[in-house]
Amino acid sequence: MNIIQTDKEYIAPTYARFPLQIKKGKGSILYDDKNNAYIDLGTGIAVNCFGVADGKWKKAVKKQLGKVQHTSNLYFSEPCALLAKELCVRTGMRKVFFSNSGAEANECAIKAARKHGELAKGADYNVIITLQNSFHGRTITTLSATGQDVFHQHFTPMTQGFVHAKPNDIEDMRALVKTHKCCGILLELVQGEGGVMALNKEYVRQVAALAEEENLLFMVDEVQTGNGRTGALYAYMQYGVKPDVLTTAKGLGGGLPIGATLLGDRAEKLFTAGLNGSTFGGNPVACAGALSVVRRIDDKLLKEVEKKSEYIFQTLQNAKGVKSVSGMGLMIGIECEKDVSEIISRCMARGVLVIKAKNKLRLLPALNIPWKLLQKAINIIKEECER
Ligand SMILES: *Cc1c(COP(=O)(O)O)cnc(C)c1O
Repeated sequence: MNIIQTDKEYIAPTYARFPLQIKKGKGSILYDDKNNAYIDLGTGIAVNCFGVADGKWKKAVKKQLGKVQHTSNLYFSEPCALLAKELCVRTGMRKVFFSNSGAEANECAIKAARKHGELAKGADYNVIITLQNSFHGRTITTLSATGQDVFHQHFTPMTQGFVHAKPNDIEDMRALVKTHKCCGILLELVQGEGGVMALNKEYVRQVAALAEEENLLFMVDEVQTGNGRTGALYAYMQYGVKPDVLTTAKGLGGGLPIGATLLGDRAEKLFTAGLNGSTFGGNPVACAGALSVVRRIDDKLLKEVEKKSEYIFQTLQNAKGVKSVSGMGLMIGIECEKDVSEIISRCMARGVLVIKAKNKLRLLPALNIPWKLLQKAINIIKEECER
């Protein structure tokens, strides 16, 4: 059977897939249907943070799978309680709501902000400020939060109550806070889909201070930046701020679907029984895998992430054909002189999988990618940028 043909015949054509069928993998190596090997620098978009078929993660998942695969939220279960505790202890946040994706984690944050607005100032204080060029998900409401017009086409009317500020422009943010009845601000600290752009530290601190002054919830979307990706457990830790709400997903599950919304001091009491829910949220198998992932993100691993990041920046920053290198930790964007799609195809032909973000190459390797594989892949990318 030709899988590519079958996929094209039966899958809704929303994805422009690469002409490659992944059959299996081990660590940072993936194999296609003809058993060709590829060094994986995309990790399923920052999801497989310890690579494919990682031993410790598999063990945690299999162990839970042998006990009970799903309980619903009508009952207590160990993995979701332990994961919530681990997340709170490591961040100083107070409560966690579990869901199944980044978009749902953000939906929960949006609900929290609106409830906060209602309690603090009245139900008409419901506007959330996000940034231009941001990405917050694919549901209608998270698309509305997304500050890119291309995503709003065809699906109007969008959910009301979102305005988009210019990144790194505190005066623009202040003006929007003044002219709208706001309840919260939601930032991606490193814009991922928007082109791997890290926000300025000073700007983020000013936004956090403004939110506190104005009694707005300060919320960070760490769906992509979270779970060790930027060289800290969560990217906010690199900015010297403390969010009221943090959302995460992607790397948290190590490959299984999970979303989490962490609620800090000012947000922990917003949800009461019945105010949010999810059939699969807190699924024991996903949570058992996630717990094993978060427990392994320690100082030693994060130092390695930093070292590998420095190596990539240093190797590519001044390479011929490279215009700029942006990002943080192992979330890196490379602006090239040549067309990125062409570079991506050439890298693929040479056994390296890279993805893109806007007009950039985007690197999201496993946090534990072996040095040798990383060096080999980065050299191939360098050669392809140069030629
Ligand atoms: C991927 C992503 C989302 C959406 O996550 P899904 O799991 O696809 O719903 C939201 N925000 C950011 C910053 C992301 O990178």
